Amino acid sequence: MDVVTDTELLPSQGETVLGKDYFMTPGGKGANQAVAASRLGGDVSFIGKVGNDVFGDRLMANLQQNGVNTEGIESSETFSSGMANVLLKNQDNRIIVVPGANNQVTAEYAEHYSHILTESNIVLAQLEIPLSTIEWCSAFCHEHGIPFILNPAPAQLLPETLIKHSTYITPNEEEYTKINSPSIEKDYGETFITTLGAHGVTYRNMTVPAPQVKAIDTTGAGDTFNGALSYYLASGYNVEDALYLSNTAASFTVEHPGAQAGMPTWEQVRERTD
Ligand code: ADP
Repeated sequence: MDVVTDTELLPSQGETVLGKDYFMTPGGKGANQAVAASRLGGDVSFIGKVGNDVFGDRLMANLQQNGVNTEGIESSETFSSGMANVLLKNQDNRIIVVPGANNQVTAEYAEHYSHILTESNIVLAQLEIPLSTIEWCSAFCHEHGIPFILNPAPAQLLPETLIKHSTYITPNEEEYTKINSPSIEKDYGETFITTLGAHGVTYRNMTVPAPQVKAIDTTGAGDTFNGALSYYLASGYNVEDALYLSNTAASFTVEHPGAQAGMPTWEQVRERTD
């Protein structure tokens, strides 16, 4: 859950200030990406964990309202729901992320829901749960011939076996510099799909441009791109067409404030690509 406080003053140590406004909005990279894929028409299941608290109920309800299957989500009795505390002062934002129950999504937990993985055409993961879980998941998918996409955010250095077990890895330009070394790029160049903001996306030696739109808020652009890429690849589109359609899907998100509000349906994407 993102809890966003809009304020003219930021408190210094020991100080209390009055803020202007606050709002709560469901977030989390995985949840955003699941909603993006579902809104396009995908049959999406989510594996994760929330806390047994008000945020947990809201997060579950939001996924369900967006048609995401929540069978793989449990509620933790001991940890809170993951939360991002966002302090907004004009253009300056300061964010504290508390992973809470996300840290309890262990490899054993994911293994308990491995039937969801084996029933899927494609599996998409992010780095907001422990890396060891992602490593297990990528190895499982590799072994079972299930395409595995890793959105390496928040960025950290990736073990080579994880890169090897991933079908595609989708960093933005900044993340790209943090997740690997140039020698890895030489061996796994066909794995990386790098997003370039308004310039679209690059894959191998090809750049697929994004539609030109009036950007209002780019929050969630990468999430929509990843959800859409998974949906289009799972639907049988080749990579080039999937990249083109995913750019188009993501371009809708930047035209609206917030991450999930602007995520498009397939019909909207189709109209923009005609
Ligand atoms: P992130 O949101 O993870 O930082 P990017 O900024 O690279 O990632 O954006 C992801 C995708 O969102 C881009 O590849 C593109 O498809 C789309 N996108 C982002 N910004 C814009 C923009 N200003 N205009 C059109 N599309 C955009």
